[in-house]
Amino acid sequence: MENNKRGYACPRCTVGRCLPQRTTFTDVYHGQLLSIPNLRAFVCDVCHFVEFEQETMEALWDELYSEAAADEIQPAARKQSSSG
Ligand SMILES: [Zn+2]
Repeated sequence: MENNKRGYACPRCTVGRCLPQRTTFTDVYHGQLLSIPNLRAFVCDVCHFVEFEQETMEALWDELYSEAAADEIQPAARKQSSSG
């Protein structure tokens, strides 16, 4: 069964094929769990390596950084840990 209409060879395992799918992007950002469902990405069918599209990531970082920039203007969250 040939299935090379779309996708590309997986850069991690070099055996599988990264195919366009929708998946949930998760990351930790500023100590908070970030979870964005239904994002377009390429997922390897062998090792499940996930690579999100450059455009998607840029749009995402744009939003995150604009929020982060606003935070920096008002540094409300300072170090709160005082144990030790
Ligand atoms: Zn792979």
